[in-house]
Order: sequence, then structure tokens, then C-alpha cells
Amino acid sequence: MKLFEQNIRRVEPYVAGEQPQHEVIKLNTNENPYPPAPGVKKVLAEMDTDRLRLYPDMDATVLVDALAGFYNVDKNQVFVGVGSDDILALCFLTFFNSGKPILFPDISYSFYKVWAELYRIPYECPAVDESFKICREDYYKPNGGVIFPNPNAPTSIYEDLDFVEDVLKHNQDVIVIVDEAYIDYAGCSALELIDKYENLLVVQTFSKSRSMAGMRIGYAIGSPLLIRSLCDVKFSFNSYTMNLTSLIAGTEAVRDAAYFKSTIQKIVDTREWSKVKLKEYGFQFPDSAANFIFARHPDYTGQELQDAFKREGIYVRHWQKERIDPYLRITIGTREEMEAVWRVCGEL
Ligand code: PMP
Repeated sequence: MKLFEQNIRRVEPYVAGEQPQHEVIKLNTNENPYPPAPGVKKVLAEMDTDRLRLYPDMDATVLVDALAGFYNVDKNQVFVGVGSDDILALCFLTFFNSGKPILFPDISYSFYKVWAELYRIPYECPAVDESFKICREDYYKPNGGVIFPNPNAPTSIYEDLDFVEDVLKHNQDVIVIVDEAYIDYAGCSALELIDKYENLLVVQTFSKSRSMAGMRIGYAIGSPLLIRSLCDVKFSFNSYTMNLTSLIAGTEAVRDAAYFKSTIQKIVDTREWSKVKLKEYGFQFPDSAANFIFARHPDYTGQELQDAFKREGIYVRHWQKERIDPYLRITIGTREEMEAVWRVCGEL
């Protein structure tokens, strides 16, 4: 090893789902099969590109205001970033500095471990139970902070507000982050608790229910104290995180509440139909509250199943990891895309 190499930070990066650049049925990264709200196309077509000459508004005011209005919170309770990954990474840097291990479930969003390693934050990963449910008692012990997705990914299991509040009650001296990337397909959001718990931060994204993964927009909602701390760290890192195009498109997407509701409903309907079909084909899965189903088949390995789908041009997600190796995570697509999935299931 050359001497200078000793100064390089070594990390094991997060492995994102494949993004094939050719035409496939893409059910591997939980994107939305429907386009963004129609107004987004319009504002982008009409955008005054001369404005790109200037730096964007570093406070992302239009988008923050739109989100504050939509969720009925104050502007100083909203923070926006380049996808929720950007925000979550910033949260690890900002909030997990006690030196004590932070806690997140062993089966959960695999980026958490990567950020913890990147920032050298100690962590512990309590095991989810046999049915993949998070055990609330595991989060009662002293820790340096708590983070979990709700619904959890990739398990798709939703925990109700009672569960979330119980975790909060046992963790009033640390920051608790609820990663709600998939909440719009599930049930009540922990947003209902933000005025009661100053140490709660709820993180959501435009990548799933708002059909804008390509635009990279995420947001966090919490107490002004937490939002101010995130802003301070952001402005110590990169002032202009939100580009003009995403500010314009994101704001427009938030305005169309009816379209938002209707695409969510379509996906939820297709998900419920998919549960029936998958059962018919012998698959087993936890009850999904997300826009994906985490399923295994008793007669085939996860790899065999993934290969069978890939041969027919259908991409689904599979991890060669302890406990979840037999499972596939299948994103809910359009009804036509799901019909293609059933064709492969029928030929297994
Ligand atoms: N949290 C969870 C649980 C996710 O599954 C994802 C999507 N990979 C994200 C956060 C990040 O989403 P984005 O950066 O696109 O907002």
C-alpha cells in the first residue's frame, strides 16, 4: 500500500438496485409506475431556462412553503433535500453524536449501516422476530439514537402509531427518526406526533408516491429545533442542494393533491390484487403496507426466482443476505406489468 493510501477513508458503499438503461419491466427499486402529476410536465416545458444562470434559492422557499401547507405545519418545521437519502445522511451526521450505539433493525434499509460506518457512528441492530416484526422492547435500552423505516423495507410491514409512540416514550433523550418512504401506501403517519415529541423527525420522499425518483427530492418534518440543526449542518456542507428544476417541479407536484391520492389508490388496489394472485401461485409473504411485496416460494430459492423473472425481462430485487436470501422484493407496477409477473409465476 502506498503511504498516501493510508489517508483514504475506506468504506463499503451501499449497493443500489440495478438501473437498466434498456426497456424492461422494472419492479426492482420501488418506483411509481405512473407519471408525475400532469402539471409537472407543463411547468418543466414552460420553465425559463435563463434562470439557470443563477444559483437557486438556498432556502428552497417555494417547496418548503408548499410542503408546510400540504402537511399543515409551520415552515420552520420543514427541511428539504436531494432525495431522502441526502437527508438521512445529513441526519446521521447531525443527530448521532453521543458516542453510544444507535439502534436500527437488522432487517431494514441497508443504507443505515453504510452511513453509520461512513461517519464512524457505533450501531447495534436488534433482530426482527421470526415474522420480521420489529420488537419494541429492543429499543428500550440506552442508546445514541433510533432510526427505522415505517413501513419497514424490505419487509413491507407497517407498525401503527401506538408502536411509534411507545418507542418515542422510551427514547425521550435521543433523536428518533422515522423513515416514511412508503407511508402513503400504509396508514397513519408519525407526523401526527411531531408536536408532542420535539425529538422526533419524520422523513419522506417524492421518489415513490409522488412518482419523481428521477428528480431527487426528499423532506423532513419535525420540531423547529431539529430543522434548524439540519439547516446549520447543510449550510456547513453545501448551500445549494436543491436545484431550480426540482424546486419548480416539486412544488407543482405538491399542489395536485387529487392526482397524488388517485395514483396511491391505484397502487394500493393493484397491491391487494397482487396479494391474492401471489397466494394462488404458492408464494408466502408478510402482509404488505407498501408499494412492494416481500415474497418467497417454498419450492424455489430467491436466486432461482430472480433468474426466472429476469429471463422474461422482469427485474425484481433479491439480496444474498442471511435471513432474507429466500425472498424477492417485487415492486407493485401497473396491472399490465403485474400480468407479466403472473405469466412467469404460471410457468415456474
Ligand atoms: N428510505 C427507504 C426505506 C427507502 O427504501 C429508500 C429508497 N431506496 C429511501 C429511503 C431513499 O429514497 P430517496 O433517496 O429516493 O428519497
